Amino acid sequence: MFEPVLLKNLDRPDAHRLAAYEATGGYRGLARALKEHTPDEVIGIVKAANLRGRGGAGFPTGMKWGFVPKAPGRPKYLCCNADEGEPGTFKDRIIMERDPHQLIEGMAISAYAIGAATAYVYIRGEYVKAIRTLGAAIGEARDKGYLGQNILGSGFDFEMHIHEGAGAYICGEETAMLDSLEGKRAQPRLKPPFPAVEGLYASPTVVNNVETLACVPHILTRGDDWFRDIGPEKSPGPKLYCLSGQVRKPGLYELPMGISLGELVEEHAGGPLSGRRIKAVIPGGVSAPVIPAEGLGVAMDFDSLAAAGSMLGSAGVIVIDDSTCMVKVATRIIEFFHHESCGKCTPCREGLNWVVKVLRRIEAGRGAPDDLDQLRDLCKGIFGNTFCALGDGAAMGLRAALEHYGDEFAAHIDRQKCPFH
Ligand code: NAD
Repeated sequence: MFEPVLLKNLDRPDAHRLAAYEATGGYRGLARALKEHTPDEVIGIVKAANLRGRGGAGFPTGMKWGFVPKAPGRPKYLCCNADEGEPGTFKDRIIMERDPHQLIEGMAISAYAIGAATAYVYIRGEYVKAIRTLGAAIGEARDKGYLGQNILGSGFDFEMHIHEGAGAYICGEETAMLDSLEGKRAQPRLKPPFPAVEGLYASPTVVNNVETLACVPHILTRGDDWFRDIGPEKSPGPKLYCLSGQVRKPGLYELPMGISLGELVEEHAGGPLSGRRIKAVIPGGVSAPVIPAEGLGVAMDFDSLAAAGSMLGSAGVIVIDDSTCMVKVATRIIEFFHHESCGKCTPCREGLNWVVKVLRRIEAGRGAPDDLDQLRDLCKGIFGNTFCALGDGAAMGLRAALEHYGDEFAAHIDRQKCPFH
């Protein structure tokens, strides 16, 4: 039986307070890191745990920390990506609102490991409660000596600050986020150089997601082998899954990495609404290609979903039933990407604009016979040719919708109307 880790205190009304966090073992991971391990040893433990980034890409966290140059001179920064803009995703918000000391402790340990004295939490501006709760928790941690000068008598100094975003999806792209933190208009930078080598103010910067950082204290207290033993060997650990859409029990679920998508949707989230049948599931936020109902046996981990032509992404699981028109779903998703495109690169800016026009006319019953070929060509022109993953996510999603539900698109064009109305 899996015991929750990240959400274990969720039912406690005072879980956001320092006293409650300490009472359940909080800040022992930080004490252990500072008193028993060198920074390199902490990196080694996180590498051995095989913690992979929970923001969406699944990059190995310890390896990323290891890329930070050791040479003194330039300051090093830690940035927590709490922008959480991916539709269908709300896991980081719950951590910050309900158990924010997990994140603070994880950040202090991570900063110690990479040699950073300063960290920023970039939170999406709409997360008002999270901003308030995390801010209060940072104050409590500072008063108790978990932040500030000479933490726990170790000689390690570390301060963290909250930076509020202003509602742009692109600010969740790590290099656009760094530009935004520097006071510039948020647009992705060319990578390489990766932020770990040249990030905030051109200094080495580790950017990690909230859930990733929240795992770190548990790895320090319980050990890398405990973490590795949960879920599949190559993507281990506890995982937060955000369930939404046409499902009986939407909400946030913590289960092992690698659980099957079918078990997650049918057993934990209660299955489809009364009288309906699941048609498709988007497993990892709208950047992740849709999986048809026949594919629900896939395991929810980075490698299995990639092999199935989709991705775990932010684990925003959106359930779609047989009452829903897939042309409508695809159009709403591409409209979102088009609206949020920063406009820096032509394939994303112009390509998505064009795709939206074609999709809207198909949806409205004014599609032309060659529109589907045109959509496929546009996807080809966008995918792999954009500055950041925004354009790729849009193109991959549309390609999958055309591949699996091409008959619904064709029916809109043939009948010159939506067959669902
Ligand atoms: P990426 O694969 O380019 O990079 C992942 C991380 O690894 C980055 O931090 C990057 O700097 C680092 N990295 C990769 N190669 C490196 C190297 N050689 N040296 C040093 N560091 C290296 O992916 P990405 O563009 O950062 O993220 C894409 C993902 O973001 C998608 O999978 C999508 O699911 C997810 N996403 C999440 C949200 C959300 O709200 N959580 C929103 C949009 C997109």
